[in-house]
Amino acid sequence: MSALVNVVRSMFLTELLSGMALTFRYMFRERKTLNYPHEKGSLSPRFRGEHALRRYPNGEERCIACKLCEAVCPALAITIESEPRDDGSRRTTRYDIDMTKCIYCGLCQEACPVDAIVEGPNFEFATETREELYYDKNKLLANGDRWEAEIAANLAADAKYR
Ligand code: SF4
Ligand code: SF4
Repeated sequence: MSALVNVVRSMFLTELLSGMALTFRYMFRERKTLNYPHEKGSLSPRFRGEHALRRYPNGEERCIACKLCEAVCPALAITIESEPRDDGSRRTTRYDIDMTKCIYCGLCQEACPVDAIVEGPNFEFATETREELYYDKNKLLANGDRWEAEIAANLAADAKYR
């Protein structure tokens, strides 16, 4: 009996037709997938991505070289050197993050009293060499300049929970 059923199924292409019907049904349903990288999903304001050093609107660096982020970093990924400027303010002369050590815990951002070091929304910073993941101050400031609008919006959205 089952052999006869199989013959009938083969003759009338029932499996092919049921497969096509299934495909046709899903053509009109909401898609569950994204066409990455052309489409991207939404991110939480608390997303911990690539690090950035921020500036004030007048262009001045926020970082006051207090080294709290360096002290709190559990991965010992941050290295800071500093010296006073002529006006008496203290600023970093070196701010490095070894991104190969970083575990993206966010403690540096939590410790910073002036919202200078942050983990921004950028998650597309894969590199071909380890050396490219040794970030210096210029790289971090450039990240801050590039992502400031998104970072400020995320901090504002999360402010009432901090
Ligand atoms: S996110 Fe965590 S591990 Fe990475 S630099 Fe900041 S404190 Fe260190
Ligand atoms: S980034 Fe923030 S916590 Fe780190 S040294 Fe600068 S001011 Fe201090």
